[in-house]
Amino acid sequence: MSNDKQKALIIVDVQNDFCPGGSLAVTHGDEVVAPLNELIKQFLDRGEPVFKTRDWHPAKTKHFKAYGGVWPVHCVQGTLGAEFHPDLIDDPRITIISKGIDESADGYSGFDGTNLGQLLRQQNVAEVWVGGLATDYCVKHTVLDALHEGFKVKALGDAMRAVNVNPADGAKAVEEMRDAGAEILEQSAVARP
Ligand SMILES: [Zn+2]
Repeated sequence: MSNDKQKALIIVDVQNDFCPGGSLAVTHGDEVVAPLNELIKQFLDRGEPVFKTRDWHPAKTKHFKAYGGVWPVHCVQGTLGAEFHPDLIDDPRITIISKGIDESADGYSGFDGTNLGQLLRQQNVAEVWVGGLATDYCVKHTVLDALHEGFKVKALGDAMRAVNVNPADGAKAVEEMRDAGAEILEQSAVARP
């Protein structure tokens, strides 16, 4: 591996429970799979690191409505709903980052309570490309944390979808990411690195 600064792809929570038919389905959530698969191929072909985060909650967590949170039960460790969307490319070179394990925290960000930042620095990553589900929660928090940790961020506008508890939440989240310093790519798979 060279010492040059490199890019990494971070795919946030493309799991069954966030896709149509899941317990916390994001409208058109499965539409992110095709552009993300294209990017996975490009990054792996260039030998660049690819990470998939997954929401990986205990059955009892304050993140869920029943225990004081706001969300229905989703992505409980070991369940079908917590598995990655079946069409999302699987490859042994991809590193899986489990988050949301702490029963006292929401764990929206891929950096929250994980070693993602450490792994990126170890691999000399300077820039991360971030897409997945959902724009207004886990993608946004992952992007903001990546910026906070000093990474350059390209947010994949065409490869993220929002929960939109309020209809404008997704658009607001994109503005927030842009204001914080992320570049928003609208045609990520054809963007030149
Ligand atoms: Zn969650």
